[in-house]
Amino acid sequence: MTDASNAQTAEIVKKKEPKKSVNLTTWILISLAAGIIVGIICSITVPDKSVVDEYLIEGVFYVFGQWFIRLMQMLVVPLVFCSIVCGAASMSDPKLLGKVGVGTILMYLCTTALAVTIAILLAQVIQPGVGLDMASIVKVEPSSTSTDQTFAQMLINIIPTNIIAAMNSGTMLQIIFFALVLGFILGRLGKKVATVNRFFTQFNAVMMHMIGLILKVAPIGIFCLIARTFANLGLTGILPMLKFIGTVYLGLFVQLLIVYMLLVFLFTRLNPLQFLRKMLPVMLFAFSTSSSNATIPLNMETLEKKIGVDPKVASFTIPLGATINMDGTAIMQGAAVIFIAQAFGIDLSMTALLTVVLTAVSASIGTAGVPGVGTIMLAMVFESVGLPAEGVAMIMGIDRLLDMGRTAVNVTGDAAVTTCMARLSGMLDKNVFNNHDFKAVSEEDLLDAPGSDEPTGYDDFTAHGDPTEIGEQGDPDKFANIEKPEPVRK
Ligand code: ASP
Repeated sequence: MTDASNAQTAEIVKKKEPKKSVNLTTWILISLAAGIIVGIICSITVPDKSVVDEYLIEGVFYVFGQWFIRLMQMLVVPLVFCSIVCGAASMSDPKLLGKVGVGTILMYLCTTALAVTIAILLAQVIQPGVGLDMASIVKVEPSSTSTDQTFAQMLINIIPTNIIAAMNSGTMLQIIFFALVLGFILGRLGKKVATVNRFFTQFNAVMMHMIGLILKVAPIGIFCLIARTFANLGLTGILPMLKFIGTVYLGLFVQLLIVYMLLVFLFTRLNPLQFLRKMLPVMLFAFSTSSSNATIPLNMETLEKKIGVDPKVASFTIPLGATINMDGTAIMQGAAVIFIAQAFGIDLSMTALLTVVLTAVSASIGTAGVPGVGTIMLAMVFESVGLPAEGVAMIMGIDRLLDMGRTAVNVTGDAAVTTCMARLSGMLDKNVFNNHDFKAVSEEDLLDAPGSDEPTGYDDFTAHGDPTEIGEQGDPDKFANIEKPEPVRK
């Protein structure tokens, strides 16, 4: 960009700044805090099945919260599909795409393995399960839980047999695979398929506009989700598990504040605290929705507009990460294994612990980025070392509380790895990172520049309906698992 256009951009930003009201981060924080306060007050004062419970908590809060999640979900499949097609089509060097893909997957796997190891070590030190003596409370039977797909099957399932069916069920890996192939071919055919290319680009823009509109109601949705969650949590279920919850959250903070910060600093030389600050709305959003998939749009937008990651990278690595990279979930699983083993008085050998690391990594690949699935996948981890399935049921009682924290870490892990990969492949613009307002001005802003009263920055795209990237996996039924977890398969 020339100096003249830089100056013009700065001018536009300046002109538009006075219009800025409260930004997205602040709104999310306010609604989160209000939701927690109202939820706790409700949990203390509102009896079960009372009128307030029925009409406010299970009525208004539930309906508005679910509407909000569904609105985000509704966009995930079309937006992930379109943005990957556009990203792959515009990759001038397909080999680069391969390199970014392989590098990202490797980094995802390594961070997850590290996450579960940290959790195991912390749980060994803190010993959250010692003194619970579950063996005398719950009858232990040899575990017979099973998961529905083997690793080989998981690999086979990457290739869809019917892309419409894959979209229908929101099977993200299959959608990613098809979109990559399609985008790659569109890129190669170039002008010969200009109409198709244009269709995807324009459809993508429409989807992004839609997400901008939906994010306008994010504070209401988040307030309702959180208020209902806290109203229903109930302290009685939490108290005996406090040490375990504390262990999981400690592990999450270690991963967030040490592992990711180091990763970002070592690979990109960006200021890790600044990175964290820019990621805060994404984390809060993930915390409130407990869904990596629902957070894909905001994560992609943030990486592109605030961190400076080329959308070609983020549009591919973020949906992929939301599907296969679950560091927070792995932390919960690692801690849960030690917790349950201690509670049931079961000794785990070194080999068993290694098995846990491997299984948690593959469970992370198989965990969909929707609420509650991590705990269902826990059955697979328990089974790998012969822990009783009853342990999973125990943890399900407090699952939502853990899910919120682990999802926030899951999405930050995706973003940290994406930023590193963007830097390694020369697709990170540090100027954007150092001055996000600068990049946040879009071409359209420049076109209808002077006098335009549209807001500019990413922060106010909620008040703006400005384009964002999206993603989200769409299996609405899986949300049913949040409130009523599926029984562990026997
Ligand atoms: N809720 C998590 C996510 O969306 C997955 C899980 O651990 O249940 O990333």
